[in-house]
Amino acid sequence: MALKVTKFGGSSVSQASQFRKVKEIVEADPDRRYVVVSAPGKRCSNDSKITDLLYLLDAHRQYHVDASNVYKLIRDRFVEIRDTLGLKQPIEKELDTMYASLSSMSEMEIVSRGEYFCAKLMAEYLGFPFVDAADVIRINHDKSIDWEATRARLKAIMNEHDHFVFPGFYGTAANGKIMVFSRGGGDVTGAILANIMEADIYENWTDVSGFLMADPRIVRNPQPITHITYSELRELSYMGASVLHEDAVFPAQENNIPIHILNTNRPQDAGTIIQETSLVPRKYPITGLAGKPGFLSIYIYKKHMSNEVGYMRKVLSVLERYNVSIEHIPSGIDSFTVLVNGAEVEDSLYEILHEIKRQVAPDEIKVQDHIALVSTVGKSMSHQPGNAGRLFEALGREHINIVMIAQDSNEINITVGVSEKDLSRTIEVIYNEFVVD
Ligand code: ASP
Repeated sequence: MALKVTKFGGSSVSQASQFRKVKEIVEADPDRRYVVVSAPGKRCSNDSKITDLLYLLDAHRQYHVDASNVYKLIRDRFVEIRDTLGLKQPIEKELDTMYASLSSMSEMEIVSRGEYFCAKLMAEYLGFPFVDAADVIRINHDKSIDWEATRARLKAIMNEHDHFVFPGFYGTAANGKIMVFSRGGGDVTGAILANIMEADIYENWTDVSGFLMADPRIVRNPQPITHITYSELRELSYMGASVLHEDAVFPAQENNIPIHILNTNRPQDAGTIIQETSLVPRKYPITGLAGKPGFLSIYIYKKHMSNEVGYMRKVLSVLERYNVSIEHIPSGIDSFTVLVNGAEVEDSLYEILHEIKRQVAPDEIKVQDHIALVSTVGKSMSHQPGNAGRLFEALGREHINIVMIAQDSNEINITVGVSEKDLSRTIEVIYNEFVVD
C-alpha cells in the first residue's frame, strides 16, 4: 500500500460544498490516509480568508477595540460548515472559550486557530482521528524546523494512528508556545509530514490545475506543465510563478518525494508533478517561462580593470554593506554590470553610487532602471544546441531590445533583461517561438 500525504489548501475547505469534494477525493483512494488542511479560504473573490479575519481579530485585541463583529464572522463560518454537513462538534463552545481568553493569547496562537478548527471539522466529517500540530511540529525560534523533535513525535503518532487529519501552518516552540510559518505555510506542514513519513507522494490540492507554461494574463490559454523538476520550479517560482509555498519544496526534494499539484474543483485534470528527474518525454524544448519588472542595473567601466585584482569584490562589498542582494553580474573585459532589485536600492542608490566611486574610482558609472527580467526555463535545453539562437532570433525579429543576457553553465535557464514596457511582449514572443503544435 502506498503512502500519500494529501494537503488541501484554503479554497478547498472554504465551505461545506468544498468539504464534500475533499471527502470524495480522499475516499476515492485508500492511500490518502494522512490529510493536512489549511484554514477556510475565500468562497468568492470578494470574500475573506479566515486567517485574514483572525489577524484582524488580533489587531482589534491589541488596540483594545471591540472585536465582536469580526469574531461573529469567524464563528458563523465554522458553524455554517458544521451545520450544513450535519456534524456534531460543539464548535461554538470552543470558539467562545477562545474569544473569552483572547487577551492571554499570542498573535501566532490566534491566527493558528483557523487550521485548528477546520481540521477538527474535517476529521469528524471524514471519520478520521484529529491530531493537533501543536503536539507534533516543533519550530525553532528562527522559524526553522526542529527535525529531530518533530520526527520523534510524528513517529510515535504514526504508531498510534494509520490515518488522521492534521492542521497545517503551525506548531510549537520548545517553550510550548504556538508558532506559525509564513503565510501559505500549510504547504510546508504537508511537506514536513511527507518527508518524515517517507511518503510515496505529496499531493497538494488547490484551486488551479498545476503550473502553466506562462502567465495566462499574458499568453492566451498557455499549455499546462505536467512534469517539472525541483530546480526548474525554483527558477520559475523565483520569477513569480507561484502555486506552492517556496519552503515546501526543500523537505520533499530532500527525500526525493514527488509533489503533485492537483485541483480540488477539477480532480480529473492531470495537474503538475514536481520531481527530481522525470522519464516522461517533454513535448516542448522549454518547460515554462516567467518574468518580472522592477530591476535596475549599475554599469561600471574602468580602463584596464581586467588587470586589477579585487576590483569587483570591492564594488560588491559596498552593495553588501547596504544589504542589497545581487541578481546577476554580466561582464565585459574592463566593465561589468550589477543587476539588482530596484526596490532594494530605492532609498540608498545615491549613497551606494557615491561609495562605489570613492572605493574604486571607475571611469564611468551608469544606472538604468525599469528593467524586466524574463527567464526561459527547461532542462531539455541543456546540451541542446540551437535554443539560445532561436530565442534571440525571435526577439530580434520582433525588434525587442535585449539589455542583458544571463545563462549559467547548468543551461536550464536563459534570462534576458528587457525594458519593462517590453515584458509582456517578450514572454509572448518566446512562448510562441517554442510552444508550437
Ligand atoms: N491559513 C494560512 C494562510 O492563509 C496558511 C495556509 O493557508 O497555508 O496563510
